[in-house]
Amino acid sequence: MEKIVFRHQEIETLPLPQLKELQRQKLQKTVEAALKTPFYKKRLNDAGIRDARDIQTEADFRKIPYTTKHDLREAFPYGMLAADKADVVRMHASSGTTGVPTVVYLTQADLDKAAELNARSCACTGSTKNDVFQNMMTYGLFTGGLMLHYGAERLGMMVIPSGSGNTKRQLQLMKDFRTTVVHATPSYLLHMYDVMKEEGFRPEDFALKKAYIGAEPHSEDIRKKIEMLYGIDAYNSYGLSEMNGPGLAFECVYKNGMHLWEDYYIGEIINPETLQPLSDGERGELVLTILERNGMPILRYRTRDLTRFIPEPCPCGRTHRRLERMTGRSDDMLIINGVNVFPSQIEEVIMKMPEIGNNYLIRVQKQGPLDKLTVKVEVTSSVFTDDTRDLENLQKRIQSNLQAVVFIRPAVELHEPGALPVSQGKAVRVIDERKES
Ligand SMILES: [Zn+2]
Repeated sequence: MEKIVFRHQEIETLPLPQLKELQRQKLQKTVEAALKTPFYKKRLNDAGIRDARDIQTEADFRKIPYTTKHDLREAFPYGMLAADKADVVRMHASSGTTGVPTVVYLTQADLDKAAELNARSCACTGSTKNDVFQNMMTYGLFTGGLMLHYGAERLGMMVIPSGSGNTKRQLQLMKDFRTTVVHATPSYLLHMYDVMKEEGFRPEDFALKKAYIGAEPHSEDIRKKIEMLYGIDAYNSYGLSEMNGPGLAFECVYKNGMHLWEDYYIGEIINPETLQPLSDGERGELVLTILERNGMPILRYRTRDLTRFIPEPCPCGRTHRRLERMTGRSDDMLIINGVNVFPSQIEEVIMKMPEIGNNYLIRVQKQGPLDKLTVKVEVTSSVFTDDTRDLENLQKRIQSNLQAVVFIRPAVELHEPGALPVSQGKAVRVIDERKES
């Protein structure tokens, strides 16, 4: 077993039954605090829960209704605040694309705990106080920048709070201070590499060893690309502002799934349609309960992120279960003739086929009583000039590859390069015509 640095070794390797018992004890205190808020008092009383002592078993826990982002907005601004307002030292908010933002409140103890979990996460990747940490995430209302900043300091790394943007300055800082660890979005690191080449920096100008990547969905191929371009290790981080941002689940040196810190969070995977819990290994929606957050408890929060718990133990020896990378959002899910299909699954299949370009479109229609799924793809220019028999074969291959993953056989249309409208995001790639009829 790899030697775990930092002072959490005992808690990180706590056997599962003891970890569960710890969760149970902390949950009672959390429910007690939640009952003090107007929102949860009503919500829990309506579900027959009047006292924290009503929550003893796993079955009791499951009686607690789910909390949604909508609930957080309804409770805006102070409906879920559990602490005395004078004891709150920090708020964070996620930008409200639909209007009202979602806000979380932290006391000094909450902030200390968040820093500690972020320090543990950094240590989990092998970082130590000898490292120089350049934080290229946005600081401010968003939790991503500040929380990992505190964690890196807590571990004793030297922190360069560069924030996002100004790529030339980022590179100069990296060079001057011999930065060893960066924290950024994957797309920013890909962009920075291009600037690095344009500006004439050489690999030996830098001492970079690691990147912490998160805050946007990305594939394993993107991680590999970042590792290859910079000659470093890239570690996945998962967090959401409602749950304090980063320091929630982080990869260890084995880079095979993110350990969810189960002494502070209870994780569940549910079927997003039936809302029933699924067992370890099954893919579904992640539901999280944050334990011991005095400022603002949140119970059984539906993250809408899709993942699974990796059932096998991790070779690093940590007992906290690993979450697989997020594969999409439950609100993106299409139900086609009763089968759950995610646009991200289709994207993954077609992106692996070299004959297909980067642009595609998914169309769902009603055909009599049934649903019809059509996947339109652009082929690369070299393929399009070939004869029609080759195109038919390609079409069949795409169909079979898709069928193997989504379990239904879609219609496939091939288009010449540039024929499909250029899309600005995932949502625009899906046209669901059933909703209009
Ligand atoms: Zn591990």
